[in-house]
Amino acid sequence: MADRIVNGRRRSDDLLLDTALRDFYGAADEMNLSESLISMLSYPERRLDVSVPVELEDGNVKVFKGYRVQHSTALGPSKGGIRYAKDLTGAECEGLAMLMTWKCSLAGIPYGGGKGGICCDPTKLTRREKERMSRTYGARIAPIIGRWSDVPAPDMYTGGQEMVWIMDTICKMLGHFEPAMLTGKPVDYWGAHGRVEATGRGVATCALELMRQKNLDPSKMKVAVQGFGNVGSYTALLLKEAGATIVAISDTTGTYYNPKGINIEKAFEYMNTNPQQRGGKLNGFEKEGCEKIPLNDILFVDCDVFAPCAAQGVLNQDTAGKIKARYVLEGANSPTTPEGEEILKDAGVIVVPDFLANAGGVIGSYFEWAQNLQGFSWTEEEYNKRLVALMTENFTKVWNYSQDKKVTMRRSAYIAAIKRVSDIVALRGVYL
Ligand code: NAD
Repeated sequence: MADRIVNGRRRSDDLLLDTALRDFYGAADEMNLSESLISMLSYPERRLDVSVPVELEDGNVKVFKGYRVQHSTALGPSKGGIRYAKDLTGAECEGLAMLMTWKCSLAGIPYGGGKGGICCDPTKLTRREKERMSRTYGARIAPIIGRWSDVPAPDMYTGGQEMVWIMDTICKMLGHFEPAMLTGKPVDYWGAHGRVEATGRGVATCALELMRQKNLDPSKMKVAVQGFGNVGSYTALLLKEAGATIVAISDTTGTYYNPKGINIEKAFEYMNTNPQQRGGKLNGFEKEGCEKIPLNDILFVDCDVFAPCAAQGVLNQDTAGKIKARYVLEGANSPTTPEGEEILKDAGVIVVPDFLANAGGVIGSYFEWAQNLQGFSWTEEEYNKRLVALMTENFTKVWNYSQDKKVTMRRSAYIAAIKRVSDIVALRGVYL
């Protein structure tokens, strides 16, 4: 992906990175941030590109591309997920790492932003191939990973198992155990009670706070959730538990729609029963009392709240004007393009931006890291209580500023996040 300079500003051919840069510049200009700080924060501090050779089951070796990007370590160790995705690029990781910087800053936790992953189709790899790939990737990014330097976590198509493979490999290289080097570990292996649900709990907390601010009764709200993976499934479950009607859910196999409400507990059960037969998905769930409609129609169903929790760029110039929801909760990273955002703003749709709405994951990761450093685990109740309190505080901060200054929640969140980072960058200065 090519970079270019337009009017003295960095731009990219990668949609996600370009969106992150444009959002950053818009907020930075409104804050009158100095050009020196703007240009420093336009680039990652460090980007490591690695090759990941993997011996496949047929004995051949395939080389995958891997990345680890540290956008900023101004506030503390960089923090961000590792994803396995078919079309992952280094530029996309740069954009995602930048979003992590703002997310950690806004969340009020002591981290900078990072991101990484491997360009691969994880659905085409066996478990043994994935293990070899994860371990080799871990070994190759090991020089920049550590509890006080860069703390990865799961992201798309990675989970506790991948974290254990990566951590185990790096610990063997170090010759000692270091559980705080990454988060999202299984609960029984230095993970944290509550982490699995944390991102969805954060999205649901923001949705409920928004309803409270708008005097809306959750039990009268119709919600559509795109993506039924880690984030989407718990967002749907927790909003249903709060009284909302979940009218549609989706995954790559299609959209499952029932205007009277989908039984989310049943969807969990369905997804976890014989997942291999259906590829671990909701395929066939229409038999459980809902209608199967085309994949992208979830965007346009009749609902009050739409929570995109799957892919980037789904709310764009072609789709944003057609949604019926009045409130968008961005569970996924970057689901709205700048063009989509303009359309939603003009239509009066309130968008709770990704780095506020889905910060529950990284806040939960921070709790896991803190417990690992202490060697002392908290109860799930304690974890959830602290998570909801911090999410509510952050939501309120962004909401109040957006109401006072009559700006979008994204702009308000950016300004708060950039201010914390740029103040510290200015304080720490540039090495001479
Ligand atoms: P996941 O792999 O667990 O789930 C992704 C889900 O989205 C799957 O159900 C998949 O089938 C579905 N999906 C993919 N493309 C789709 C499409 N076009 N239409 C409908 N469904 C589609 O991933 P996840 O961890 O839930 O992450 C989802 C998003 O949330 C990503 O953007 C990720 O970066 C972001 N996020 C995740 C976390 C976390 O803690 N897991 C934290 C913050 C942000």
